[in-house]
Amino acid sequence: MKIDIMTLFPDAIDAMMGQSIMGRAQERGYIRITAHQIRDYTTNKQMQVDDYPYGGGRGAVMQADPLYRCWDHICQEAGQRVHTIYLSPCGRVFNQEVAKELKARYDRLILVCGHYEGVDQRFLDECVDEEISMGDFVLTGGEIPAMAVADCLCRMVPGVLPEESCYTDESHWNGLLEYPQYSRPEVWHGRAVPPVLLSGHHGNVDDWRKKESYKRTMVRRPDMFARFDETQLTTKHDRKVLQQAKDELRQEQEDQA
Ligand code: SAM
Repeated sequence: MKIDIMTLFPDAIDAMMGQSIMGRAQERGYIRITAHQIRDYTTNKQMQVDDYPYGGGRGAVMQADPLYRCWDHICQEAGQRVHTIYLSPCGRVFNQEVAKELKARYDRLILVCGHYEGVDQRFLDECVDEEISMGDFVLTGGEIPAMAVADCLCRMVPGVLPEESCYTDESHWNGLLEYPQYSRPEVWHGRAVPPVLLSGHHGNVDDWRKKESYKRTMVRRPDMFARFDETQLTTKHDRKVLQQAKDELRQEQEDQA
């Protein structure tokens, strides 16, 4: 997968996306994330990329032309019009389903990071295919959202993580939150690891994890649990584990009341 990020802060992108798993995946050639400095595409001496908003009001707006020239350069280099996403609080909200959809459809993307009051609408109308938001809040710039989208898509690329289960056995993949995780030592600050995890009994560990995943989702994200399709539990055992989770949660809530 190749992702081109149009930004006023390419160093921030390179610093972050060159680290750890993403950095290694780039070195090994599984993914390529390239940050492009929009200022390099200005035609004025000051390398100015913004100007005042027509109609008045505070702040500045990123001008269409430097953005267009940067975008066009990337598309020319790619030899095609590349699917282009503007990170924006006005876009559809990003989640794992959106990530799966983008990953399935595109192996090359351009992500556009806005700044100031945003971007001249004419650039969006001409070059942008969709807008994606990180959530119902406003950030200073699109760099953090762009890196979040790039990271989320790239970790699903074969080879980036050791195996597929590394990203499928995670919160949100199947409409559930993940179970709690523990590591050494067995007791920390008087808090012991749940004994089943030390039992070496894989079947019991698996059942415990499923139950905790159900319970955590029911408590923290009832909206998500309401959408969980119980008919996907095809075996009697799986349905029993879900029922146990519901019973245990009810008991725990009664005990706390
Ligand atoms: N004036 C804009 C508005 O009210 O919708 C907000 C502009 S914001 C200060 C500057 C840039 O940050 C945006 O152009 C966008 O690229 C990015 N940004 C801010 N919040 C975001 C969010 N929730 N999701 C994605 N990008 C965001």
